[in-house]
Amino acid sequence: MSPVASPPMPTTEDVYAALRGVIDPELGSDVVDLGMVTHVDIADGTVEVGIALTIAECPMRGQIDAETRRKVGALPGVETVEVVTTAMTKRQRSELMETARLRARERAEPTRVPTSTRVLAIASGKGGVGKSTTSVNLAVGIADLGFRVGILDADIWGFSIPRMLGTTDRIEAGEDKLMIPVEAQGLQVVSTGLITDDEGTALMWRGLMLSKALEQFLTQVKWADDLDYLVIDMPPGTGDIQMALSRLLPQAEMVVVTTPQQTAQKVAVRVADMARRSHMPIVGVVENMSSFVCDHGQTYELFGSGGGEQLAEQLAVPLVGQIPLDTSLVSGGDEGTPAARHVADGPAGVAYRTLAAELVRLVPPLEDETCVGRMAKLLEAM
Ligand code: ADP
Repeated sequence: MSPVASPPMPTTEDVYAALRGVIDPELGSDVVDLGMVTHVDIADGTVEVGIALTIAECPMRGQIDAETRRKVGALPGVETVEVVTTAMTKRQRSELMETARLRARERAEPTRVPTSTRVLAIASGKGGVGKSTTSVNLAVGIADLGFRVGILDADIWGFSIPRMLGTTDRIEAGEDKLMIPVEAQGLQVVSTGLITDDEGTALMWRGLMLSKALEQFLTQVKWADDLDYLVIDMPPGTGDIQMALSRLLPQAEMVVVTTPQQTAQKVAVRVADMARRSHMPIVGVVENMSSFVCDHGQTYELFGSGGGEQLAEQLAVPLVGQIPLDTSLVSGGDEGTPAARHVADGPAGVAYRTLAAELVRLVPPLEDETCVGRMAKLLEAM
């Protein structure tokens, strides 16, 4: 394999764009918007970010620190991230509260995905690599770790999620005209495959462009307030939809699914490049259809080998999972019984449960303990 040239360092603008993904869930905005970033210094692979915390003993300090390291560290060319935290002055604090209040008033738009929800966008270069299968089994796997999980089928042309989850329920609109997700396999599920075909709803969907459909789903679905993770099954390939997602949901992060075939990687790299250009961090690569273990224990690499590792290396992200070929994924997909739960001890079941745990480790749920309670007291005392 030819050596991979190290990418150039990001610009200050790139770092600020990445910091827009560091969100204070309760204040409902990002650290840049809230004026918490004091400085950004870039030198020789190291990026130093100054963060002014609302109060020195802010319980979210650890989370903001870790998020800053993760998001800035995901930028190509960054080797080390230093975070220098200081405490805000009284005046800065009241300015921040002013911004937070303003954002709270504006918050009805652009999306209804809670700011405390982690968003994992599952993407691939081309169709047929097992992106939807991965989205479903990953969502079930994360739910089985005790989290509240939603799945959004944004692959509106090839929607297969409802079948994989064994649901034929219809999404209904609540009194406030917002769509209520269907519950299936313990997940909140939204897909165009679940839209009622009554006239009003049909009208709403007619002629919707792909990225518009995503926008509709993000702005008009009433997700549970306590949703820990939202898994989005992205349409294959690159395009407007990645851009739309990073604009609407700056907290979204991408997981790229590929196969071991080395030739499949070029198009997957393009998807990742597109994500990075719109400042969406890439959590890692999942290699699907990795190998086949027959009943006699012999391993066959039917679709070649090394593709996942090669892509991960090229993107400078970890290979977060390798899913073997397993017929229980096909039958489970047809019968609505995801292998990650229903054949949990089979080869794919084990691999998906391991992947779910790894992604929860890399993208931990957001704590809901915040500084606002303490700040309110401080402000009262001012
Ligand atoms: P995509 O969303 O990338 O188009 P799908 O998830 O729909 O791909 O998968 C395509 C087909 O491959 C489906 O029939 C699915 O059951 C099958 N499949 C996916 N992953 C595996 C696997 N690891 N082993 C066996 N079959 C698989």
